[in-house]
Amino acid sequence: MKKGNWEYQRRKMVEIQLIGRGIRDKKVISAFLKVPRHEFVPPPHREDAYGDFPLPIGEGQTISQPYMVALMTELLLLKGEEKVLEIGTGSGYQTAILAEIAKSIYTVERIASLLERAKEILEFLGYKNIHFRVGDGTKGWEENAPYDAIIVTAASPEIPPPLFEQLKEGGRMVIPVGNRMGQDLIRVTKKDGKPKKENFGPCIFVPLIGEYGWKNGN
Ligand code: SAH
Repeated sequence: MKKGNWEYQRRKMVEIQLIGRGIRDKKVISAFLKVPRHEFVPPPHREDAYGDFPLPIGEGQTISQPYMVALMTELLLLKGEEKVLEIGTGSGYQTAILAEIAKSIYTVERIASLLERAKEILEFLGYKNIHFRVGDGTKGWEENAPYDAIIVTAASPEIPPPLFEQLKEGGRMVIPVGNRMGQDLIRVTKKDGKPKKENFGPCIFVPLIGEYGWKNGN
């Protein structure tokens, strides 16, 4: 399949990879139908943008598999009015999906070149509800806290305490927790100030590197 078929490929991705595996949230599905994933995949792999796998985006980082982006988004239970914190901007694709659904997105990335690239694409696509920051996302983004939802798209050895603190009462955080080789996808809900955890099964992400993640990254 070649260029020009992007829309067709996108529909197939949604039918087979998302709906076929149980993604049901209508807002998530319409966001996936709309956001041009190929714009977020750098040229060497662009033709594979709608494939059922993660892809390299430079700096040793990856754009997550479409299903994983959909599942994590669905687990946040967004209705439309939320303020969302995203840690690990990467390509900016997940950011765009969130920006389609929620009210405002605060996204933090530790690698400046990736953030710059993501910002350019997201601005080119016309998103106005995204706020960008380069830095260590394990500390969150305190100035704008608390958040209705927090999504961490890199693997963490534990739930970074500042992120849980910056979550609103009743808010949800989705984060892969485990070791470098493999993690579990965890949803943490803040209930009466305490974490209620649910496990949605195994996953593999690049490491979260920072004060409350892994300290020695590269
Ligand atoms: N959602 C992104 C995932 C990118 S991979 C996408 O689908 O494109 C995870 C990203 O987390 C990488 O870009 C990595 O640089 C970033 N990251 C790792 N540790 C981080 C930290 N402490 N703060 C912010 N970003 C971090």
